[in-house]
Amino acid sequence: VKNSGRNSFRYFTSEMNTRALHWMALEHRLRNALGRAEFSLFYQPQVRLADKRICGAEALIRWRSAELGMISPAEFIPLAEDSGLIIEIGEWVIRTACAQNKAWQDAGLCALPVAVNVSAHQITAGTLPAIVRSALRTSGMEARYLAIELTESVLMQEAELAMAQIAELRGMGVAVALDDFGTGYSSLSYLSRFALDKLKIDQSFVRNITDDAKSAAIAKATIALAHGLGITVVAEGVETREQLDYLDDAGCDEVQGYFFSRPVAAGEFVALLAADQAP
Ligand code: C2E
Ligand code: CA
Ligand code: CA
Ligand code: CA
Repeated sequence: VKNSGRNSFRYFTSEMNTRALHWMALEHRLRNALGRAEFSLFYQPQVRLADKRICGAEALIRWRSAELGMISPAEFIPLAEDSGLIIEIGEWVIRTACAQNKAWQDAGLCALPVAVNVSAHQITAGTLPAIVRSALRTSGMEARYLAIELTESVLMQEAELAMAQIAELRGMGVAVALDDFGTGYSSLSYLSRFALDKLKIDQSFVRNITDDAKSAAIAKATIALAHGLGITVVAEGVETREQLDYLDDAGCDEVQGYFFSRPVAAGEFVALLAADQAP
């Protein structure tokens, strides 16, 4: 800390303390959250535009802390990453999603892939393929019913590690999707360098797709490029009928968003599946 006068120093440290204390309290609780079974997975349906049927689900983690109540992943995932807890939490997510999806299959409810989000740290650790293999073996779920979502920054920062692990996962039959497409620095060249199965157009483009020509142009170009490379395109954050129709016309393959459903608890997802399968 620079010595910039007694008062400003004092002010700075007290504010820093408050923030650091909040952070430390949160981290302490996060550390205990797994053991206390405070995490759960919600599921958001992915819908195929060709027939408007549910074709998969994305698993999204939820944390209900005994002391703090519901805490959004946007708040605790960065903390889990900084503290290294994301490795353990990420493994729990993969194992839970596989076990849940296999249970749905065994109950005859669905035979659809479930997608899980993976942080850059899980790639850096180098253990992702081994954890996935173990989760598949333990759950008994076939690899083709699992998808891994990675963001562009992983491909940039950890290109070599990411490429090797993506190849290993795909070799096992697990699908790999590029999340939040268009928000990072990546670009088109990444799409051809990395062998990917799916690309998810970020919701920031979808939000403006019907009234901003630039967002629309980016979405259309992305769809064309992905299709040229044999990659399936999913649009995220679809909230309105207008956005849905636009994406359908533009040739997008799948959509996800509040228009069809928010992420819901496992029990509610089963109800969505049942309604979707009803004749
Ligand atoms: P994401 O992977 O991009 O997930 C999509 C987010 O958009 C989710 O927020 C979802 O609830 C929200 N969303 C879905 N449809 C709509 C819509 O129509 N409109 C709007 N405005 N939002 C929509 P959520 O669940 O709060 O998760 C936020 C982020 O936290 C995720 O973004 C992901 O980066 C991260 N995250 C969530 N679960 C996990 C996890 O298990 N592991 C890791 N590493 N990250 C996770
Ligand atoms: Ca995602
Ligand atoms: Ca996303
Ligand atoms: Ca169509």
